[in-house]
Amino acid sequence: MRIPFVPTTLAALLLAGTAAAQTPELNLYSARHYSTDEALYADFTKATGIRINRIDSDDAGLVARLKSEGAASPADVILLVDAARLHRLERDGLFQPIRSARLEEAIPPTLRSLPAADGGLSWFGFSTRARVIVYDKAGVKPEDVDRYEKLADPRNKGRVCIRSGSHPYNLSLFSAVTQHLGEAGAEAWLKGLQANLARPPKGGDTDQIRGVASGECQIAVSNSYYVARLMRSDKPEDKAVADKVAVSFPNQDSWGTHVNIAGGGVARHAKNRANAIAFLEYLATPQAQAHFANGNNEWPAARGIRVDNPALQAMSPNGFKSETIPVATVAERQPQVQQLLDRVGFP
Ligand code: FE
Repeated sequence: MRIPFVPTTLAALLLAGTAAAQTPELNLYSARHYSTDEALYADFTKATGIRINRIDSDDAGLVARLKSEGAASPADVILLVDAARLHRLERDGLFQPIRSARLEEAIPPTLRSLPAADGGLSWFGFSTRARVIVYDKAGVKPEDVDRYEKLADPRNKGRVCIRSGSHPYNLSLFSAVTQHLGEAGAEAWLKGLQANLARPPKGGDTDQIRGVASGECQIAVSNSYYVARLMRSDKPEDKAVADKVAVSFPNQDSWGTHVNIAGGGVARHAKNRANAIAFLEYLATPQAQAHFANGNNEWPAARGIRVDNPALQAMSPNGFKSETIPVATVAERQPQVQQLLDRVGFP
Protein backbone atom coordinates (compact mmCIF):
# COMPACT_ATOMS: atom_id res chain seq x y z
CA MET A 1 0.00 0.00 0.00
CA ARG A 2 1.04 3.58 -0.48
CA ILE A 3 1.75 5.51 2.64
CA PRO A 4 1.44 9.25 2.08
CA PHE A 5 4.18 11.22 3.70
CA VAL A 6 2.89 13.96 5.97
CA PRO A 7 5.29 14.63 8.79
CA THR A 8 3.07 14.83 11.85
CA THR A 9 5.61 16.86 13.73
CA LEU A 10 6.25 19.32 10.93
CA ALA A 11 4.06 22.15 12.15
CA ALA A 12 5.51 21.92 15.63
CA LEU A 13 9.02 21.81 14.23
CA LEU A 14 8.51 24.85 12.06
CA LEU A 15 6.99 26.77 14.96
CA ALA A 16 9.86 25.81 17.20
CA GLY A 17 12.26 26.81 14.44
CA THR A 18 10.59 30.20 14.05
CA ALA A 19 10.56 30.83 17.78
CA ALA A 20 14.26 30.14 17.98
CA ALA A 21 14.83 31.94 14.67
CA GLN A 22 16.63 28.85 13.46
CA THR A 23 16.27 26.53 10.53
CA PRO A 24 15.15 23.11 11.76
CA GLU A 25 17.93 20.65 11.11
CA LEU A 26 19.08 17.11 11.33
CA ASN A 27 22.55 15.64 11.69
CA LEU A 28 22.91 12.53 9.58
CA TYR A 29 25.78 10.10 10.09
CA SER A 30 25.80 8.03 6.92
CA ALA A 31 27.85 5.12 5.67
CA ARG A 32 26.07 5.50 2.33
CA HIS A 33 27.19 8.03 -0.22
CA TYR A 34 25.47 7.88 -3.56
CA SER A 35 24.49 10.80 -5.74
CA THR A 36 20.86 9.60 -5.78
CA ASP A 37 20.84 9.84 -1.98
CA GLU A 38 21.73 13.52 -2.23
CA ALA A 39 18.71 14.19 -4.44
CA LEU A 40 16.63 12.30 -1.92
CA TYR A 41 17.87 14.40 0.98
CA ALA A 42 17.26 17.59 -0.99
CA ASP A 43 13.64 16.49 -1.55
CA PHE A 44 13.21 15.89 2.17
CA THR A 45 14.49 19.38 2.93
CA LYS A 46 12.16 20.83 0.32
CA ALA A 47 9.15 19.00 1.77
CA THR A 48 9.85 19.69 5.43
CA GLY A 49 12.20 22.65 5.68
CA ILE A 50 14.52 20.48 7.76
CA ARG A 51 18.14 21.00 6.74
CA ILE A 52 20.35 17.90 6.68
CA ASN A 53 23.95 18.15 7.84
CA ARG A 54 25.75 15.05 6.65
CA ILE A 55 28.76 13.32 8.09
CA ASP A 56 29.92 10.66 5.61
CA SER A 57 32.29 7.92 6.59
CA ASP A 58 32.64 4.19 6.21
CA ASP A 59 30.85 2.01 8.73
CA ALA A 60 33.82 1.48 11.02
CA GLY A 61 34.63 5.20 10.93
CA LEU A 62 31.10 6.19 11.91
CA VAL A 63 30.97 3.74 14.78
CA ALA A 64 34.35 4.88 16.12
CA ARG A 65 33.23 8.49 15.89
CA LEU A 66 29.95 7.83 17.71
CA LYS A 67 31.75 6.02 20.49
CA SER A 68 34.34 8.71 21.00
CA GLU A 69 31.72 11.48 20.96
CA GLY A 70 29.56 9.76 23.57
CA ALA A 71 26.71 11.85 25.00
CA ALA A 72 28.07 14.94 23.23
CA SER A 73 27.48 13.38 19.81
CA PRO A 74 25.51 15.62 17.48
CA ALA A 75 24.26 12.58 15.53
CA ASP A 76 20.49 12.38 15.08
CA VAL A 77 20.18 9.63 12.47
CA ILE A 78 22.68 6.85 11.77
CA LEU A 79 22.63 4.93 8.46
CA LEU A 80 24.72 1.76 8.16
CA VAL A 81 24.89 -1.32 5.97
CA ASP A 82 24.26 -4.87 7.16
CA ALA A 83 22.08 -5.90 10.08
CA ALA A 84 25.21 -7.20 11.81
CA ARG A 85 26.56 -3.67 12.18
CA LEU A 86 23.19 -2.19 13.11
CA HIS A 87 22.75 -4.84 15.76
CA ARG A 88 26.20 -4.21 17.17
CA LEU A 89 25.43 -0.51 17.45
CA GLU A 90 22.15 -1.34 19.17
CA ARG A 91 23.95 -3.62 21.61
CA ASP A 92 26.44 -0.84 22.34
CA GLY A 93 23.51 1.43 23.25
CA LEU A 94 24.13 3.89 20.42
CA PHE A 95 20.53 3.86 19.13
CA GLN A 96 17.39 4.92 20.97
CA PRO A 97 14.33 2.75 20.37
CA ILE A 98 11.41 4.61 18.82
CA ARG A 99 7.75 3.95 18.09
CA SER A 100 6.45 4.95 14.67
CA ALA A 101 3.23 3.56 13.25
CA ARG A 102 4.35 4.59 9.77
CA LEU A 103 7.64 2.74 9.98
CA GLU A 104 6.09 -0.30 11.63
CA GLU A 105 3.53 -0.48 8.87
CA ALA A 106 5.95 0.08 5.99
CA ILE A 107 8.95 -2.04 7.00
CA PRO A 108 8.29 -5.76 7.55
CA PRO A 109 9.25 -7.20 10.96
CA THR A 110 11.87 -9.43 9.30
CA LEU A 111 13.75 -6.33 8.11
CA ARG A 112 14.01 -4.34 11.35
CA SER A 113 15.37 -4.69 14.88
CA LEU A 114 13.68 -6.89 17.43
CA PRO A 115 11.36 -4.84 19.67
CA ALA A 116 12.43 -3.67 23.13
CA ALA A 117 10.19 -4.50 26.10
CA ASP A 118 8.01 -1.46 25.40
CA GLY A 119 7.79 -2.27 21.68
CA GLY A 120 10.35 0.35 20.67
CA LEU A 121 12.51 -0.40 17.62
CA SER A 122 16.17 0.58 17.33
CA TRP A 123 16.64 0.31 13.57
CA PHE A 124 14.83 -0.30 10.31
CA GLY A 125 15.99 -1.67 6.97
CA PHE A 126 15.48 0.70 4.04
CA SER A 127 16.90 -1.45 1.25
CA THR A 128 17.69 -5.10 0.76
CA ARG A 129 20.50 -7.00 -0.93
CA ALA A 130 20.87 -10.71 -1.58
CA ARG A 131 24.02 -12.73 -0.85
CA VAL A 132 24.26 -14.58 -4.14
CA ILE A 133 26.60 -17.14 -5.69
CA VAL A 134 28.37 -15.90 -8.81
CA TYR A 135 29.87 -18.53 -11.10
CA ASP A 136 31.74 -19.06 -14.33
CA LYS A 137 28.93 -19.73 -16.73
CA ALA A 138 31.19 -21.64 -19.10
CA GLY A 139 32.67 -23.97 -16.50
CA VAL A 140 30.16 -24.47 -13.70
CA LYS A 141 26.82 -26.22 -13.89
CA PRO A 142 23.94 -24.26 -12.28
CA GLU A 143 23.04 -27.33 -10.21
CA ASP A 144 26.50 -27.20 -8.58
CA VAL A 145 25.70 -23.81 -7.05
CA ASP A 146 21.97 -23.84 -6.43
CA ARG A 147 22.32 -24.17 -2.65
CA TYR A 148 24.68 -22.64 -0.10
CA GLU A 149 25.27 -26.18 1.15
CA LYS A 150 26.97 -27.01 -2.15
CA LEU A 151 29.71 -24.44 -1.51
CA ALA A 152 31.05 -27.12 0.85
CA ASP A 153 30.48 -30.06 -1.49
CA PRO A 154 33.64 -31.92 -2.62
CA ARG A 155 32.52 -31.42 -6.24
CA ASN A 156 33.47 -27.75 -5.81
CA LYS A 157 36.96 -28.41 -4.46
CA GLY A 158 39.43 -25.65 -5.28
CA ARG A 159 36.79 -23.55 -7.00
CA VAL A 160 35.45 -21.11 -4.40
CA CYS A 161 36.48 -17.50 -3.72
CA ILE A 162 35.01 -15.64 -0.77
CA ARG A 163 36.04 -12.61 1.28
CA SER A 164 37.09 -13.00 4.93
CA GLY A 165 34.72 -15.06 7.05
CA SER A 166 34.74 -12.38 9.74
CA HIS A 167 33.36 -9.68 7.45
CA PRO A 168 29.81 -8.72 8.52
CA TYR A 169 28.38 -9.89 5.17
CA ASN A 170 29.73 -13.39 5.74
CA LEU A 171 29.01 -13.44 9.46
CA SER A 172 25.38 -12.73 8.57
CA LEU A 173 25.28 -15.40 5.86
CA PHE A 174 27.01 -17.99 8.05
CA SER A 175 24.68 -17.10 10.89
CA ALA A 176 21.65 -17.82 8.69
CA VAL A 177 23.24 -21.10 7.59
CA THR A 178 23.82 -21.98 11.26
CA GLN A 179 20.21 -21.27 12.00
CA HIS A 180 19.17 -23.73 9.30
CA LEU A 181 21.79 -26.48 9.68
CA GLY A 182 22.33 -26.30 13.43
CA GLU A 183 25.73 -25.64 15.00
CA ALA A 184 27.26 -29.05 14.22
CA GLY A 185 25.95 -28.91 10.65
CA ALA A 186 27.30 -25.39 10.20
CA GLU A 187 30.70 -26.42 11.55
CA ALA A 188 30.93 -29.26 9.05
CA TRP A 189 29.77 -26.91 6.31
CA LEU A 190 32.43 -24.31 7.17
CA LYS A 191 35.13 -26.99 7.10
CA GLY A 192 33.92 -28.12 3.69
CA LEU A 193 33.82 -24.54 2.42
CA GLN A 194 37.32 -23.93 3.70
CA ALA A 195 38.55 -27.07 1.95
CA ASN A 196 37.00 -25.82 -1.30
CA LEU A 197 38.69 -22.39 -1.32
CA ALA A 198 40.64 -21.58 -4.47
CA ARG A 199 42.80 -19.10 -2.51
CA PRO A 200 42.94 -17.56 0.96
CA PRO A 201 40.26 -14.87 1.35
CA LYS A 202 41.37 -11.41 0.27
CA GLY A 203 39.65 -8.27 -0.95
CA GLY A 204 35.98 -7.42 -1.15
CA ASP A 205 33.08 -9.04 -2.97
CA THR A 206 33.97 -7.46 -6.33
CA ASP A 207 37.45 -8.98 -6.10
CA GLN A 208 35.87 -12.43 -5.75
CA ILE A 209 33.75 -11.84 -8.87
CA ARG A 210 36.85 -10.67 -10.75
CA GLY A 211 38.56 -13.83 -9.56
CA VAL A 212 35.91 -15.87 -11.36
CA ALA A 213 36.29 -13.83 -14.54
CA SER A 214 40.09 -14.20 -14.48
CA GLY A 215 39.85 -17.95 -13.93
CA GLU A 216 41.48 -17.92 -10.51
CA CYS A 217 38.27 -19.37 -9.14
CA GLN A 218 35.03 -20.60 -10.66
CA ILE A 219 32.59 -19.74 -7.88
CA ALA A 220 32.30 -16.61 -5.73
CA VAL A 221 30.02 -15.32 -2.99
CA SER A 222 28.91 -11.72 -3.35
CA ASN A 223 26.23 -9.24 -2.47
CA SER A 224 23.90 -8.72 -5.42
CA TYR A 225 24.60 -5.01 -5.89
CA TYR A 226 28.27 -5.60 -6.67
CA VAL A 227 27.24 -7.79 -9.61
CA ALA A 228 24.67 -5.21 -10.71
CA ARG A 229 27.32 -2.49 -10.51
CA LEU A 230 29.59 -4.44 -12.87
CA MET A 231 26.67 -5.11 -15.22
CA ARG A 232 25.79 -1.40 -15.35
CA SER A 233 29.35 -0.12 -15.54
CA ASP A 234 30.49 1.94 -18.53
CA LYS A 235 33.95 0.41 -18.35
CA PRO A 236 34.59 -2.33 -20.94
CA GLU A 237 36.68 -4.32 -18.43
CA ASP A 238 33.76 -4.41 -16.00
CA LYS A 239 31.32 -5.43 -18.71
CA ALA A 240 33.71 -8.21 -19.73
CA VAL A 241 33.67 -9.52 -16.15
CA ALA A 242 29.87 -9.34 -15.99
CA ASP A 243 29.58 -11.20 -19.30
CA LYS A 244 31.59 -14.15 -18.03
CA VAL A 245 29.57 -14.84 -14.94
CA ALA A 246 26.09 -16.01 -14.05
CA VAL A 247 24.26 -15.47 -10.79
CA SER A 248 22.59 -18.09 -8.61
CA PHE A 249 20.01 -17.15 -6.00
CA PRO A 250 20.64 -20.13 -3.75
CA ASN A 251 18.14 -22.30 -1.90
CA GLN A 252 15.11 -21.45 -4.00
CA ASP A 253 13.83 -24.96 -3.35
CA SER A 254 14.38 -24.71 0.40
CA TRP A 255 14.83 -21.87 2.87
CA GLY A 256 15.47 -19.06 0.37
CA THR A 257 18.39 -16.79 -0.49
CA HIS A 258 20.02 -14.87 2.36
CA VAL A 259 18.99 -11.25 2.31
CA ASN A 260 20.44 -8.42 4.33
CA ILE A 261 19.72 -4.72 4.62
CA ALA A 262 21.04 -1.21 4.67
CA GLY A 263 19.18 0.72 7.30
CA GLY A 264 19.26 3.10 10.18
CA GLY A 265 17.79 4.45 13.35
CA VAL A 266 17.71 7.40 15.73
CA ALA A 267 20.95 8.08 17.60
CA ARG A 268 20.93 7.62 21.36
CA HIS A 269 21.76 11.24 22.11
CA ALA A 270 19.82 12.83 19.24
CA LYS A 271 19.06 16.48 19.90
CA ASN A 272 16.64 16.66 16.96
CA ARG A 273 14.68 13.53 17.74
CA ALA A 274 11.40 14.49 16.06
CA ASN A 275 13.23 15.51 12.88
CA ALA A 276 15.12 12.22 12.97
CA ILE A 277 11.89 10.22 13.13
CA ALA A 278 10.36 12.35 10.36
CA PHE A 279 13.42 11.59 8.20
CA LEU A 280 13.24 7.84 8.77
CA GLU A 281 9.51 7.91 7.98
CA TYR A 282 10.32 9.79 4.80
CA LEU A 283 12.87 7.12 3.79
CA ALA A 284 10.10 4.52 4.01
CA THR A 285 7.78 6.34 1.59
CA PRO A 286 7.36 4.82 -1.89
CA GLN A 287 9.06 7.69 -3.71
CA ALA A 288 12.06 7.72 -1.35
CA GLN A 289 12.29 3.93 -1.31
CA ALA A 290 12.69 3.67 -5.06
CA HIS A 291 15.54 6.19 -5.09
CA PHE A 292 17.23 4.87 -1.98
CA ALA A 293 17.25 1.29 -3.28
CA ASN A 294 18.26 2.18 -6.81
CA GLY A 295 21.15 4.33 -5.63
CA ASN A 296 23.03 1.15 -4.79
CA ASN A 297 21.23 -1.31 -7.07
CA GLU A 298 19.24 -2.75 -4.19
CA TRP A 299 15.59 -3.64 -3.64
CA PRO A 300 13.26 -1.52 -1.50
CA ALA A 301 12.65 -2.78 2.03
CA ALA A 302 9.17 -1.27 2.38
CA ARG A 303 6.24 -3.45 1.43
CA GLY A 304 4.75 -3.48 -2.03
CA ILE A 305 7.28 -1.26 -3.82
CA ARG A 306 9.03 -2.21 -7.05
CA VAL A 307 12.09 -0.69 -8.61
CA ASP A 308 12.85 -0.48 -12.28
CA ASN A 309 16.49 -1.54 -12.37
CA PRO A 310 17.66 -3.29 -15.56
CA ALA A 311 20.53 -5.15 -13.88
CA LEU A 312 18.37 -6.49 -11.05
CA GLN A 313 15.70 -7.37 -13.57
CA ALA A 314 18.23 -9.32 -15.67
CA MET A 315 19.59 -11.05 -12.58
CA SER A 316 16.22 -12.30 -11.36
CA PRO A 317 13.58 -11.82 -14.05
CA ASN A 318 10.94 -13.58 -11.98
CA GLY A 319 12.03 -12.35 -8.59
CA PHE A 320 13.34 -14.79 -6.00
CA LYS A 321 12.47 -16.44 -2.73
CA SER A 322 14.27 -14.83 0.17
CA GLU A 323 15.16 -15.91 3.66
CA THR A 324 12.37 -15.55 6.22
CA ILE A 325 14.51 -15.49 9.38
CA PRO A 326 14.48 -11.89 10.67
CA VAL A 327 17.76 -10.13 9.89
CA ALA A 328 17.88 -9.12 13.56
CA THR A 329 17.87 -12.77 14.63
CA VAL A 330 20.62 -13.52 12.15
CA ALA A 331 22.61 -10.57 13.54
CA GLU A 332 22.17 -11.70 17.14
CA ARG A 333 23.89 -14.96 16.42
CA GLN A 334 27.09 -13.39 15.16
CA PRO A 335 29.28 -13.79 18.24
CA GLN A 336 28.45 -17.51 18.18
CA VAL A 337 29.37 -17.69 14.49
CA GLN A 338 32.65 -15.87 15.10
CA GLN A 339 33.51 -18.48 17.75
CA LEU A 340 32.67 -21.19 15.27
CA LEU A 341 35.01 -19.59 12.71
CA ASP A 342 37.78 -19.40 15.29
CA ARG A 343 37.29 -23.04 16.23
CA VAL A 344 37.33 -24.20 12.61
CA GLY A 345 40.21 -21.84 11.78
CA PHE A 346 38.23 -20.36 8.93
CA PRO A 347 40.24 -17.47 7.47
FE1 FE B 1 29.06 -3.51 0.36
